[in-house]
Amino acid sequence: MSGISRHDVLIAGGGLAGLRAAVQVHDAGRSVAVVSKVYPIRSHSGAAQGGVNASLGNHPDGGDDSWEGHAFDTIKGSDYLADQPRAEILAQDAPVRVLEMEHWGAYFSRFPDGRIAQRPFGGAGFPRTCYAADRTGHQLLHTLWEQCLKRGITFLDEWFVTRIVTHDGRAGGVVALHVPTGELRAFAADVVLIAGGGYGRVFAKTTNAYINTGSLTAAAYRAGARLEDMEFIQFHPTTLYGTNILMTEGVRGEGGYLVNAEGKRFMDRYAPSVLELAPRDIVARAIQTEVDEGRGFEGGYVQLDIRHLGGDVIKEKLPGIRQIAMDFAGVDPIEEPIPVQPGQHYSMGGVSCDENGETDVPGLLAAGECSCVSVHGANRLGGNSLLETLVFGKRAGDRAAEIAGAGGAPDASPADALADALAEERGAVEALRKRTDGERQIEIRRDMQRTMTEKVGLFRDGARCVDAVREIARLRTRYRRVALGSGHAAFNYDLIDTLELRGMLELAEITALGALVRQESRGSHWRTDHPKRDDTNWLKHTMATRGKGGQPVIDYEDVVMAGYEPTERTY
Ligand SMILES: Cc1cc2nc3c(=O)[nH]c(=O)nc-3n(C[C@H](O)[C@H](O)[C@H](O)COP(=O)(O)OP(=O)(O)OC[C@H]3O[C@@H](n4cnc5c(N)ncnc54)[C@H](O)[C@@H]3O)c2cc1C
Repeated sequence: MSGISRHDVLIAGGGLAGLRAAVQVHDAGRSVAVVSKVYPIRSHSGAAQGGVNASLGNHPDGGDDSWEGHAFDTIKGSDYLADQPRAEILAQDAPVRVLEMEHWGAYFSRFPDGRIAQRPFGGAGFPRTCYAADRTGHQLLHTLWEQCLKRGITFLDEWFVTRIVTHDGRAGGVVALHVPTGELRAFAADVVLIAGGGYGRVFAKTTNAYINTGSLTAAAYRAGARLEDMEFIQFHPTTLYGTNILMTEGVRGEGGYLVNAEGKRFMDRYAPSVLELAPRDIVARAIQTEVDEGRGFEGGYVQLDIRHLGGDVIKEKLPGIRQIAMDFAGVDPIEEPIPVQPGQHYSMGGVSCDENGETDVPGLLAAGECSCVSVHGANRLGGNSLLETLVFGKRAGDRAAEIAGAGGAPDASPADALADALAEERGAVEALRKRTDGERQIEIRRDMQRTMTEKVGLFRDGARCVDAVREIARLRTRYRRVALGSGHAAFNYDLIDTLELRGMLELAEITALGALVRQESRGSHWRTDHPKRDDTNWLKHTMATRGKGGQPVIDYEDVVMAGYEPTERTY
């Protein structure tokens, strides 16, 4: 094993889920290292704006909140596709996880009596979204980062994982490429825990950072893990027109209105009782319908108006939103409404795992947005994703430490398997570096993003999904002849983008295929040719396995119920 470093637990991903898990593994007395392709505090978690849900019941507007209410809202919001016992865990563990972050130093906004402030969010029956102005993710990520530094946790920064190594079907380490030097190295571990975030960059119009490519989801899929419910993609209703930077749901939580080109609020036609605070899938479709029926501005957007809140409230509670609107749209929301349109935002699907992060591959765990514990089902409620990283990051950390503490498998990190995998990855990268006469990755990537946005977007139908599946297959063929612009070793982002595109095409293919096969409308998956939810045939999860020839094989699993009967979802 000489030359290959070894840890009890190797965590791939330095966002909130990865860091929360790392703290847990460390505190259980196991050795842990976090490998991340970017510096951890540059993870997408740091971009989260609106807040994190917990039934603290702090809001002065009265009533008692409860975890049961939170669980019910989550399950109804999921359009009954969430596994109900898991949604209950999310809601039950929320208060303790959020208060723990407060005690670790997270700087939450507060009510005048000193308790953590909570704002209303879409689909929630109670104002239970805790926030730090509109920079909640930044606060939480820096707090967890500090906790990791305090514990002296090992970080392998700017190492891009290209492969999860398995031996006899069990995970035993990874191969990773050092971005600054181009060196490839193998790392051994009893347990590999991935926390790689979402894959929003498979779409053209997205709020996701450039780094959100799903490369660890794809690596897990290639290592034998099943992917669950990948057709469920969240389109956020309010992204800034032009750049698709997020305008948090907190803007509507604070009282923002949506207005069409006729100068009218329109949500009463789509969600008469909760208006702008309906869940995201409903508001996004409402905005797109206004635009498609000719009531949008310049054919493409509506307005988000918060002028009535006044400058003081906007500056105190939504300073980041105001700054982004001024910098990227030239609009000061104190004076003018913000132009917004829907855009890709979140992946409900991911690596299938249980409530402790365990996947189908022994020794491989998953947490955070890359995983599918199945708490969000067909539509995630705002504020539940930051929560998921804390609740299930912690649980996966506990389980990883437990597995490693039991000694893992005696041959969990076999040197031969790692050495072979390393040699193969080196060969593949070398071959790519040498190839000069092929197509550049960016052309294929743009065609994939356009296809996914146009054909597997907010409104879908069978014909467009068929087109998308065929087009992605053609793009995979084109990818076989991809070539780099330069073979240099240091900071070769062209190489990394090219390696990532392979996995993105696989995820795009599964997403499009799942959308084609699921002949119903549920949550974010809206089929204009099958506009009704069909619980008789489709109250089940889509599971994708990588077949022998590399093609996805689709199968189904029942939704786990716990007494919340599916009813029509009205707001
Ligand atoms: C703009 C925006 C605002 C949001 N606002 C909210 C909100 O207010 N409330 C809410 O609940 N949710 C919000 N979300 C969603 C939420 O922020 C994310 O789902 C969550 O933070 C994801 O955390 P994560 O730890 O799973 O992944 P990330 O934070 O995305 O971290 C992924 C990590 O994986 C690493 N990585 C990826 N691939 C590799 C590889 N191949 N090798 C090595 N490392 C790799 C990256 O370096 C990174 O460290 C928002 C999302 C966006 C995009």
